[in-house]
Amino acid sequence: MRRWELIVGNWKMNGMVETARSLTDEIRVGLSQREERQLLCEVVISPPFTALHAVHQHLQDSSIKLGAQNMSAQQSGAFTGEICGLMLRDVGCRYVILGHSERRSLFGETDQSVMEKVVAAYVNGLTPIVCLGEGREDRDGGRTLDVVGRQMDAIFPALPDSASKQQQLVVAYEPVWAIGTGLTATTGQIQEVHAFLRKQIQEKLGSTVSRKIRILYGGSVNAGNAKEILALEDVDGALIGGAALKAKEFLSIIDSVPGDA
Ligand code: PEP
Repeated sequence: MRRWELIVGNWKMNGMVETARSLTDEIRVGLSQREERQLLCEVVISPPFTALHAVHQHLQDSSIKLGAQNMSAQQSGAFTGEICGLMLRDVGCRYVILGHSERRSLFGETDQSVMEKVVAAYVNGLTPIVCLGEGREDRDGGRTLDVVGRQMDAIFPALPDSASKQQQLVVAYEPVWAIGTGLTATTGQIQEVHAFLRKQIQEKLGSTVSRKIRILYGGSVNAGNAKEILALEDVDGALIGGAALKAKEFLSIIDSVPGDA
């Protein structure tokens, strides 16, 4: 059974408001042409905070959804420089990327802080896209499944009791060594980790939920490799960095979503 695939563009810290507007327009126009033939996936774009409002306005009447790249675990108050979930909702976000490896490695985020942000995302009605993945040393040392298993385990306490809410969670497996490097995990490596994560979810949350949760792959996905990655049994979409900044390439990845959804 194929799940409804999800293609997420992570624009990272790139672009002024005007660039974000024009990239959004290009994607939007390309997508509306495809919608006429039936779109096979859900599409989310995640601009920097400063462009969220403008992009949201450009997404009126579009099926493209808006996501943020991070958020605070706090609800409001004296947290200088932070942005909370309610603010993200206020500017039209439906999704939020949490625990991206750049946040973990450059900004000290931990399994615990990611878990707290997942709680806050649910409280504010945002769908969390939780990133996890091993570094090069752990891959080479044969510790990949230990690392992703630990990162996944840390998320479970944040999930609400209701199965229908649990299954909204999106997990993104992103091997750190494949992000922005042009190196992609092999299809064997990707399927192994995705199947492992799905089994872990099944043991914890049951098979109804595990069958529905979408597990995305991220790490140098591009127009050339998307088709074989997206066709893998336990891959339900992709989280895309560099290639999401080029409308044509992003649309071509969307075109690679398998047709048997
Ligand atoms: C990412 O930043 O989540 C990512 C996968 O980046 P890239 O596609 O550039 O490797």
